[in-house]
Amino acid sequence: MTIESILTMPNPFEAKRILCVQPHYDDNDIAAGGILAQLARNGAELLYLTVTDDLMGVVDHALSREAAANTLQNDQFAAGKIVGVKEQYWLGYPDAGEYDYFDLRRDILKYIRLLKPDFVFAPDAWLTYEGHHDHIQTGLAAAEAVMFAELTKITSSDPEVDSAYEKHDIKGVALYFTREPNYIADITSTWEEKIAAMRCYEAQFSASGMDQLLLAMDMKAQQVAQGQSFARGEPLKVLHSSALHCGI
Ligand SMILES: [Zn+2]
Repeated sequence: MTIESILTMPNPFEAKRILCVQPHYDDNDIAAGGILAQLARNGAELLYLTVTDDLMGVVDHALSREAAANTLQNDQFAAGKIVGVKEQYWLGYPDAGEYDYFDLRRDILKYIRLLKPDFVFAPDAWLTYEGHHDHIQTGLAAAEAVMFAELTKITSSDPEVDSAYEKHDIKGVALYFTREPNYIADITSTWEEKIAAMRCYEAQFSASGMDQLLLAMDMKAQQVAQGQSFARGEPLKVLHSSALHCGI
């Protein structure tokens, strides 16, 4: 018997309900929009939870906070339509700002207990040279929330959600923006949708900035697919939820 036979790598394509926790409005789609679009077509419900208000990245400084927030949300809805996102949720923490890690973990725990996903996508908190604190906090809080979902002594931000919660199985987590992938998703069939979704994020990019981003994404997608039987890929670290502790 091997450890791998006990903690087999979960298959994202068996997921029915996927919670994708992202620091900013576009992270899920930049990192994993190709496979997420495939999972939605495969019948999974895609639920996005966005941690920060993302206001620091809005390029038009003349917009009021309200107008900028509306524009960001409209962009996100348009992209979500293309990818196949069923519901969007927001936590509204200040983008690149000061907020408490445990508040964030309590909020993510609430949504995991409320929505009962069987798969969770989030940034890899252990990405070497990740300099953006929102990404590290979000990835770690999502991983802890997956581990602690059933331990209701660890409270969420909503006591009613905690008391109504009945244990459920989270098959796995998929960490994106990772340097140690164990799963390269073949995104050839949804590459066009991914690019179309990315083009919706107009509030955060100038036209030239967007062109540059898409070029870099294309090169990266082709680079990670080298040695595979397909042209473009997305790298993920897919783990059994019990593999998030002590390196098991
Ligand atoms: Zn981000």
